Amino acid sequence: MTAPKHNPHSNLAIAPDYQGSMLMIVAPSGAGKSSLVNALLQADPALCLSLSSTTRTPRPGELDGKDYRFVSKEVFIAERDQGHFLEYAEVHGNFYGTSRIWIEAQMKMGRDVVLEIDWQGAEQIQKIIPEVQWIFIFPPSLEALEERLRKRAQDDEATIQKRLAAAHIELQHAHEADFVVINDHFDQALEDLKHILAASRLRSGPVMACNPALLRRLGV
Ligand code: GDP
Ligand code: ADP
Ligand code: 5GP
Repeated sequence: MTAPKHNPHSNLAIAPDYQGSMLMIVAPSGAGKSSLVNALLQADPALCLSLSSTTRTPRPGELDGKDYRFVSKEVFIAERDQGHFLEYAEVHGNFYGTSRIWIEAQMKMGRDVVLEIDWQGAEQIQKIIPEVQWIFIFPPSLEALEERLRKRAQDDEATIQKRLAAAHIELQHAHEADFVVINDHFDQALEDLKHILAASRLRSGPVMACNPALLRRLGV
């Protein structure tokens, strides 16, 4: 029996042979997704972060090319119209988008990718790449969410109010996710994310595609 040439379970539209893991992290602003994703990236050098483009103004300390690719609205719209983005959305009055070329390149190389995007983007990606693992991060309470936004001290009062109002809408989309991680104790939430990544790497398709000799010996 010959080994399958590609993942037989895969119905990926843009890279049918993709054997990597793709995690999509969604949460209301202040829930802790950037902190958790940064810690996960530190703990797992095989994982790479999708660098979004945004029209938002950089926060103090944020760097172009590290946190986001910061662009003007004109540039964003021109790039959007040229099909530059795999998904894009307007969030809190700014545009955010995921680079199509970058994602396709990572998928062709079989790399593990994490995306930090909003629920509108997550719905779009889920349609294009059904094997994505959608992870929703919950804050332990609305009070904690507000406290974290204030403690982060990077947004003005109007921006904080806008983000708290949007949190309610974002939270209604948690039922669409594959996993929910409650970010109460940071270390526990990070462990939960590591377990999800580990489970994703053990999906039957990638494991079988990566072990053709064993499959032959087992007669699978
Ligand atoms: P945060 O909510 O405090 O992390 O603030 P950000 O300004 O970093 O992100 C604002 C929103 O835009 C969040 O919901 C992000 O998940 C979302 N976002 C970031 N990058 C992208 C992207 O490339 N595409 C989409 N659709 N949403 C994004
Ligand atoms: P997001 O990217 O979802 O907007 P951040 O990662 O910026 O959220 O986190 C918001 C704030 O909450 C930051 O100041 C961060 O240090 C803090 N934070 C994150 N996780 C926890 C936690 N488990 N307990 C307390 N504070 C946290
Ligand atoms: P912030 O402005 O606080 O960095 O992000 C606000 C929201 O935009 C967050 O929910 C964040 O996840 C989302 N976001 C960031 N990048 C993208 C992106 O590329 N696409 C989409 N759809 N949302 C994004």
